[in-house]
Amino acid sequence: RIGEALVAVKSSAFILEYFGNTWLNFSYSFPEMSVIPIENHPAGAMENWGLVQFNPSLFYYLEGRDLIAQKKSVIEVVSHELAHQWFGNLITMDWWSQLWLNEGAASFYQFFGADAYDPEGKWMDRRAVLGVQPGYYTDAFTTALPISQEVYDGSFEFAQGSIIYRKGCAIHTLLWNILGNAYFKGTTQYFKDYAYENTRNAEFLNALQQAADEQNLNLPTELTYIMEGYLYRSGVPLVRVTRTYENLQESVYFRQERFLLDGDGDGSLYFVPFRYITSGRSEESDISWMQLEDEIVLNIQFDTDSDWLLVNPERKSYLITLYDEENYFRLIRELNQENCSLTPAMKGSLFHDVAFVIEKGVLSPDVGLAMMEYLGRETSEIVWFGVLRLHEVFLTNPPSELYEQNFLANVQEALNYAVQLNEDPNNTTSYDVVIEALNMEDPVASSYICVWQNCNREFGPDVGDLDAHVLHHLSRLEGVEEYHCCWGESCKFTAEDWTDFRKHVTFHVYHAYLKRISFPVLDEIGKRCKNEEGDLEMPGDFICQVNNCGKQWISALKYYRHVKWHVSRACKIDPSKKVVDLSHYISCPWRNCNKKLYYVSRVLTHVVQSRAQEKAFACPDCGQCFESKKGFLNHLHRHGTPTHFECDSCHKRFPTKRLLRDHQRNHVNRSQCPLCSVTTSSISN
Ligand SMILES: [Zn+2]
Ligand SMILES: [Zn+2]
Ligand SMILES: [Zn+2]
Ligand SMILES: [Zn+2]
Ligand SMILES: [Zn+2]
Ligand SMILES: [Zn+2]
Ligand SMILES: [Zn+2]
Repeated sequence: RIGEALVAVKSSAFILEYFGNTWLNFSYSFPEMSVIPIENHPAGAMENWGLVQFNPSLFYYLEGRDLIAQKKSVIEVVSHELAHQWFGNLITMDWWSQLWLNEGAASFYQFFGADAYDPEGKWMDRRAVLGVQPGYYTDAFTTALPISQEVYDGSFEFAQGSIIYRKGCAIHTLLWNILGNAYFKGTTQYFKDYAYENTRNAEFLNALQQAADEQNLNLPTELTYIMEGYLYRSGVPLVRVTRTYENLQESVYFRQERFLLDGDGDGSLYFVPFRYITSGRSEESDISWMQLEDEIVLNIQFDTDSDWLLVNPERKSYLITLYDEENYFRLIRELNQENCSLTPAMKGSLFHDVAFVIEKGVLSPDVGLAMMEYLGRETSEIVWFGVLRLHEVFLTNPPSELYEQNFLANVQEALNYAVQLNEDPNNTTSYDVVIEALNMEDPVASSYICVWQNCNREFGPDVGDLDAHVLHHLSRLEGVEEYHCCWGESCKFTAEDWTDFRKHVTFHVYHAYLKRISFPVLDEIGKRCKNEEGDLEMPGDFICQVNNCGKQWISALKYYRHVKWHVSRACKIDPSKKVVDLSHYISCPWRNCNKKLYYVSRVLTHVVQSRAQEKAFACPDCGQCFESKKGFLNHLHRHGTPTHFECDSCHKRFPTKRLLRDHQRNHVNRSQCPLCSVTTSSISN
């Protein structure tokens, strides 16, 4: 499989050289390095000194066959294990309670190595989002443990598992943020002073402190003291940013508290260094400090009275930000710009933080929904990773009946858009990540099929193509006395009226679309419905009542698209740009309704679902339609029988795909024995 090993081998050679001679300025210890894939390796990879072992799933990549995401994983893991040749092998931590020195550093340096080898890979954006974010969640609960202990006292009261990697990466990033170049200078000195020895946090932090002193950096106090809250205590600070909008030279208030999803702030305060940017100024500000204070005020200069403020834009500090609503709306306007100036790291981080504060209940879900409206044009998987965190929150607590349908429509649009931008769908990471994360069937691979008589023609992911096609079958029939539906095997529908007949047949197409988007729900709860396919029932008469329009439609698909077009006009959304103006409410434009509605997503739900009677789900097995996910779930609980998903590796069975996926992660994730160097695939092993 030598051809499939090229990326792993080439990147190993390059990154090892780069770390030793350029980046860390301290040569690798041996004349030789081997990288070797081992079948059924119990861990993802293991950084043995001079002989790095890989699970084949993280080693092989073949261009044209595998997704770019696979190539990225290989480079990332290679870079991580090679960083360990210094952080871990050259210098080893004194005890497991200082494991973050190894894993945090390797998880941080991996992005610099990967960036040098693959400069187009947006690795610094990946660091900001994928590199650090998964650690926040664990740290947001009262049960969280600190990632380190100053001295080993025989207890195991420090965090283990992935938070060591993610928060560890975030803390190394924080040190880099505070110290700049002195961080790397200090690290090289640390290698010189302690090569082939064991160290504790103090040795590392003192080396950095020394480098900072040599460069006369202006720190508020000793580094060890600053880092105490991040190393020896758990928790992530929430920074509430309140703007005053008085004039262009503006007072902005920053308040901090510990962020907890399962409780209220416990009075903990942190040294919080942070940078910010404002519209039109892409340079980050210098660092401002909250020094164990619960509030500070900054005077910030803005250029215009519609400028936004973005705190911790590249996520170099460890904190969650919450703004006032006006600032969010200004940021949303920026997201909707054709030439949005925010980087993937900034956008991904914004979604990530908003997910946390919405889950906590301190920000209206409507802000999150409004942020999501531009997503049909978002093709960066880095951003989608942040979006999916918000999506998770909304799945547990849907902000509107049509939420899931709108979200999937956005995903579909973004995927189509990515293809349009000449990105091969088999080769874009975003495609891969979104499909995988949403647990969706691949909508391009599985197309729609025309089941009119023996047609069997296949169509792409846009149901509009099938909708247009099916009318060709019908055009030959016009004028007969009685029309018989020939859709599929079981439909017995007949009509004398030509219009009713065409409405019925095109509704089959729309119904196929509803079944398609409902399919992931079956996987999610692991059931199939055992009812027989029933008769097709059409909701409503497809006459548009928006603004007394009165237009009558044959095709359900076109009818709902038409109503949505009205709504987007009413909300002042340019359908191509989706620019949102949230400053005014609108009255429901449906005849005789006039209900007051404030947010685009609410207007859509109300008009399209309550008034035009669009259904949100259709059971893929029996075809029954439902207005809400709740209705569909009830149906499945009553009529469904459990299905199973089996693990390829160990043949355990799981009721849902999601659980299976969680389980399969254990086959590659590493559990390290705290007493010796053995690693196993699971804690129980
Ligand atoms: Zn590691
Ligand atoms: Zn056909
Ligand atoms: Zn029919
Ligand atoms: Zn109309
Ligand atoms: Zn209404
Ligand atoms: Zn059913
Ligand atoms: Zn298994």
